[in-house]
Amino acid sequence: MHRTYSSLFLKRAATIVVILCFALGCEPAGVEAEAPAVVPVAAEPAPLDVVGAVADRAPELLSAYIRIDTVNPPGNEIEGARFLQRLLEADGIDAQIFEPQPGRGSLYARLRGNGSKRPIILLSHIDVVPVEPDAWSQPPFEGLIVDGAVHGRGALDAKGVGIIQALAVIALRRLGVEMDRDIILLATADEETGGRMGAGWFVENQFSLIADAEFVLNEGGFIRRSEGRPLIYNLNAGEKGPCWFDVVATGDPGHGSRPAADTAVTRLVEALGKLSAWQRPIDVGPVVAGYYAAYATLDEEHARQFRQLARSLEDPLFRDWFMSDPVAAALVQNTIAPTVLQGSSKTNIIPGEARAKVDCRLLPGHDCGDFLDDVRALIGNEHVRVERGAVAFGSSQSPLDNALTEAVETVAANDAAAAVVLPGLQTGFTDSHYFREKGIAAYGFVPIVVSNEERVATHGPNERVQVEDLRAGVVRLVEILTEVGARTQ
Ligand SMILES: [Zn+2]
Repeated sequence: MHRTYSSLFLKRAATIVVILCFALGCEPAGVEAEAPAVVPVAAEPAPLDVVGAVADRAPELLSAYIRIDTVNPPGNEIEGARFLQRLLEADGIDAQIFEPQPGRGSLYARLRGNGSKRPIILLSHIDVVPVEPDAWSQPPFEGLIVDGAVHGRGALDAKGVGIIQALAVIALRRLGVEMDRDIILLATADEETGGRMGAGWFVENQFSLIADAEFVLNEGGFIRRSEGRPLIYNLNAGEKGPCWFDVVATGDPGHGSRPAADTAVTRLVEALGKLSAWQRPIDVGPVVAGYYAAYATLDEEHARQFRQLARSLEDPLFRDWFMSDPVAAALVQNTIAPTVLQGSSKTNIIPGEARAKVDCRLLPGHDCGDFLDDVRALIGNEHVRVERGAVAFGSSQSPLDNALTEAVETVAANDAAAAVVLPGLQTGFTDSHYFREKGIAAYGFVPIVVSNEERVATHGPNERVQVEDLRAGVVRLVEILTEVGARTQ
């Protein structure tokens, strides 16, 4: 049994009603008010009051954090790291800042538990993506609170995440609940351009500080709100691996008025044609199977097929319907997207070389080197070579049956609104892979409720988070951390 924050709260809530009613002279319906024999002079504040008071600070703090410009490039995350450090140290929590290059600051702090279980890392990034200010209805770097929402770049991705994580740690410290695990807070630089100066650097150079950790809770999934449906807790447990490559075709250069039968450009076009026509196998991994099995409870019409997705996809009719949705298709297949084309710069000049850059994403269990061997065999032309690109690392996934995933399930089950946990595989990548590569199970999950509109604003104009949702995010995160790390009784 875990001594949970919710049960602590329930136990104490009754006491508070009695104290309040005594003070205010009210009578709970149907209950004879009876003055308690002894009224506590200074009642210990209830957990909900402690957490609530800390959570109330979230909007103002997020506004201040948004006002620190950490657009990457250049990042200048050091100012954001110092802001978080001051916030934590005001509550007696030591925080260290690392700065591998001038301005590229990352923060590390640890709230000690009794050490009987391994730590959990709360991870967020300090940098944000650039903005096109003209498209915004509110200024992107002022953190204004308008119509019940905090507006600005980073409100959700990921300064809002950093604020709820820091406040959850502060609330747990104030609550004084003995935890079985240390909670490590990590706010890093450079996520938006790949994390090499942030999480990547930290994992390479300061790993001893986090080597004992069992879990990472990072960005990647929110709680989704949509009309007429229960809340969906998107618990992302895996990410596809980028395997970017170039296709380079060569041929004799010449004048456009006297073309040879094959040129660099025609060879490249032919190779790309083969790539797009390639029927790649379908592969349903455990995370995706889990996602659709859970999703079946929300979609009666396809429930039977979703419960056994791999088998259902053998049926050509169902497969065609399923694969016609690019998002669904990307979850069960390696994807290939040619994105950049380079050849001649003049219409009448045949170039000696033509190049395509291809964004390819691999499912868990698929290796980039092996995949590129298959690509070479498919193209099968000695004048066309395939070069591995700069961004290529393995896909990664974490298990769905441990103390952390159970804690999220429990908090979802206790959510006042009906809620369903959907495990997910992300088609894009975050910093989580750095940790999974070191054997730490990592999950993309932020317990803030967002609408679809708010979610898509994360790299676009009008990024924002509702004040109430932000506040509730702190409370939920405290519940999850208490569930996963509270002292075993
Ligand atoms: Zn992000």
